Amino acid sequence: MSDHVLVLDSGTTSTRAIAFDRAGRVAEVAQAPLTQHYPQPGWVEHDAQEIWRATLACAQQVAARIGADRIAAIGITNQRETVVAWDRQSGEPLARAIVWQDRRTADVCAALREQGHEDAVQRRTGLLLDPYFSATKMRWMLDHDGQVRSAAEAGRLALGTVESWLVWKLSGGLHVTDAANASRTLLLPLDGAQFDQGLCDLFGVPRGALPQVVDTHGQVAETALFGRPIPITGLAGDQQAATVGQGCFAHGETKATYGTGAFVLTNMGENVPRSSHRLLGTVLMQHGGRRTYALEGSVFVAGSLIQWLRDSLGLISSASETEALARSVADSGGVTIVPALAGLGAPHWRADARGVIAGLSFASGRAQIARAALEAMAHQTHDLARAFAADGAAWKRLRIDGGMSANDWMAQDLADMLDLTVERPDMVETTALGAGVLAATGAGLFGSLDEAAQAMRGAVREFTPAMDRSVRGERLERWGRALAAI
Ligand code: ADP
Repeated sequence: MSDHVLVLDSGTTSTRAIAFDRAGRVAEVAQAPLTQHYPQPGWVEHDAQEIWRATLACAQQVAARIGADRIAAIGITNQRETVVAWDRQSGEPLARAIVWQDRRTADVCAALREQGHEDAVQRRTGLLLDPYFSATKMRWMLDHDGQVRSAAEAGRLALGTVESWLVWKLSGGLHVTDAANASRTLLLPLDGAQFDQGLCDLFGVPRGALPQVVDTHGQVAETALFGRPIPITGLAGDQQAATVGQGCFAHGETKATYGTGAFVLTNMGENVPRSSHRLLGTVLMQHGGRRTYALEGSVFVAGSLIQWLRDSLGLISSASETEALARSVADSGGVTIVPALAGLGAPHWRADARGVIAGLSFASGRAQIARAALEAMAHQTHDLARAFAADGAAWKRLRIDGGMSANDWMAQDLADMLDLTVERPDMVETTALGAGVLAATGAGLFGSLDEAAQAMRGAVREFTPAMDRSVRGERLERWGRALAAI
């Protein structure tokens, strides 16, 4: 009986295949690391062929272990914005994939901003002019890679984000992208069904090389690579998938993922969101051509601050040690960390900012610094909460996930500082689960996304606010001062 969904989770540092049953339990999993290429400072590349081979190998392992006949459908979730260029005839990559973190097109973005394009681009696409998004990476490939250019001239160029590349390989040549991934390229108007010619002209991307935009769930494609035809019925970028995995289907429902960075998305319903506070508007999901939108705020440095304390300063030996250290003192002793180690993301967007540790004294030790590092997560999230509220999307509770959310002290501090109930599912692999929910619904295993998420999401733990107002006020004031100093 086909009662499992196979999720292919193509992340930045690894690729995984996970089989979920109808109750959201992980039946089988296989994982492979992904090589990171750093050819120059600020450049980050992946080998698209390696992504495909690892994905196929992991999927085949999982399919062999549970039996391909038990897979009802496939769902794909992926690192967003990363660009792959391949040859339509050979199906081979033409260049290394340019990864979302890559900053090589910063100058192009600055020039477009100087020419006054940002307001119109933000109004149409919900995004800002930043190298993070796909369009300028596509143009860079055309300008700098002879193979990409000649394929474009010969009409053989295919461009896409990672899910698009994987569907092409799985299906044997179908060139599609889901609306959620497409909304990260700068080429899709939030209210337009397909990529827009005017935006393609602005960024110099040939529209004919782009995929067709399709739903995030429903009958999207089919693969014959597992011994029998299996439908692909769910596609979404990682943050959108996590929002689905957290069951944020009603207007205002919000999730925050704390991994290397932190990503907050609030469901904004069916009306195109407009931010006046430097948040991003994005497609959350699409079914039957109807879209649900989200507002998004990204914090660049979250768990990576803890990694830095461990690997660069040697202050801790493991990330989880921060929890006991934070609990070992009554407060941070006035120490405040602004973790702008890679600039500041939303709502500040200050690429030039650098981090500070303020308020040091001879009484400051490991515990105070570890506590200040964890406190910085709530402070950064509080800045986002203010921006979301000012954009008319005040949070009523916050659903958290990601590797760092395992830290109970941080979860409680978030509840305290935001003065909101914070909810954490026992199953924190919400990105993969979300792709499973999309695929299971798309395949008709459940009547609705809500029903699928209820069945698959599992138990949650709640953290309720218990902090004195005056303590919160003092913390926010201290954070404000440290922020103003950078
Ligand atoms: P990503 O998906 O971005 O690779 P993960 O969701 O796996 O990241 O989260 C890993 C990050 O979370 C690491 O940066 C690590 O430092 C941090 N982290 C993991 N566990 C804890 C913990 N108990 N306390 C604090 N930080 C943690």
